[in-house]
Amino acid sequence: MPPRDDHTLTREVIRLGEPTLGEPELAAVRAVFESGWVAGQGPLGSQVEQALVDITGNRHAVLVSNCTAALHLALLALGVGPGDEVLVADYTYPATGHAVMFTGAQPRFVDVRADTGTIDVDAARDAIGPKTQGIIAVDVFGQSADVQPLRELADSLGLFLLEDAAAAMGARYRGNPIGAFADVTCVSFHGRKGITCGEGGAVLTNSTAVADQVRKLSCFGIASAYQRQSTEQLAVPEFDELGFNYKLSDVAAAILGVQLDRLAGLIRTREQLATAYGELLADEDALVLPVELADRWHVWQTYAVTLDDRVDRGRVAATLRGQGIQATIGTFASHLQPVYGRTQSCPTSRRLFDQHLALPMHANLDEDDVQVVAEALRHAVAANAGH
Ligand SMILES: *Cc1c(COP(=O)(O)O)cnc(C)c1O
Repeated sequence: MPPRDDHTLTREVIRLGEPTLGEPELAAVRAVFESGWVAGQGPLGSQVEQALVDITGNRHAVLVSNCTAALHLALLALGVGPGDEVLVADYTYPATGHAVMFTGAQPRFVDVRADTGTIDVDAARDAIGPKTQGIIAVDVFGQSADVQPLRELADSLGLFLLEDAAAAMGARYRGNPIGAFADVTCVSFHGRKGITCGEGGAVLTNSTAVADQVRKLSCFGIASAYQRQSTEQLAVPEFDELGFNYKLSDVAAAILGVQLDRLAGLIRTREQLATAYGELLADEDALVLPVELADRWHVWQTYAVTLDDRVDRGRVAATLRGQGIQATIGTFASHLQPVYGRTQSCPTSRRLFDQHLALPMHANLDEDDVQVVAEALRHAVAANAGH
């Protein structure tokens, strides 16, 4: 719990993010214990992969230990390696840039749209060079990037399109679920995402070759033990490739299976909260509200307002924290992170990094909580605005 002043209320802290987990998930875990298979890529994992296929319409889903691992394996399966360059939407959690670096390739960061924080298609076109192999679009905060124009751009130059949908499970673009336009899509089930199994991720694709390679690389470079034990003869595998151990345990998969069943309801709650924030903050002129574009369905993993540059964000956040309300930055401007060498400039991403303030958003909140947060934010902004 954050530090609180003695004079503040006894009310619980209103957290930025919280999982919505309970008895159904516990029952699913109990069932896995009883099944005797708790390791990765077992029978439950297969069932949950099929559920992901059904929900997203991708032909294949491979569960892995987290979305960063998913991005790493997706890039390897797409053939990315040393000497290559990959365009990366700048405004993202640095897992995206890290995954490119894991392969030995270089990320080239591309600036983003001011309204949504998603990759700017014209900036991407301008950034393409002789070493560019593909583009990673990020569905920032749970809203799809411009995946159809990006698909057209990628096709016109023979590049791949990878969708980092870590925060966007359940989101839609022009009526399609995530992954409809990308070659490969990666999702996260980390505790702060819309649905969770603690840590977890998945690779979604229509390509059998990519799915097979991702699955192999997620299990040391061989078929999984469960697959191998199902054959009749003594199967001694051969290791012909340097794979990783990125499997998701069946314990986590069991939790995820229940969360997938609850996905629509959890998104609905977040939508109601986003609508309530929008109504309560609409006339506040020191901040800009997040937008949901008409052709897409936002799943509100994060609700971030953009503070006017006269407002001291650090002090607003501290004021809210003093009242038991958590608030933080939106996400990161990758090009400013020392690990990537800091050689580029992405001014819009930088501005969002400096001015976004993420407010509490999770499916355990109700509209009364939103009212408390909105009221506290109004006061904090008024008190911390310069002239
Ligand atoms: C959370 C997140 C990741 C990392 O996901 P993990 O499952 O924690 O590895 C990657 N990209 C984006 C855009 C994210 O929001």
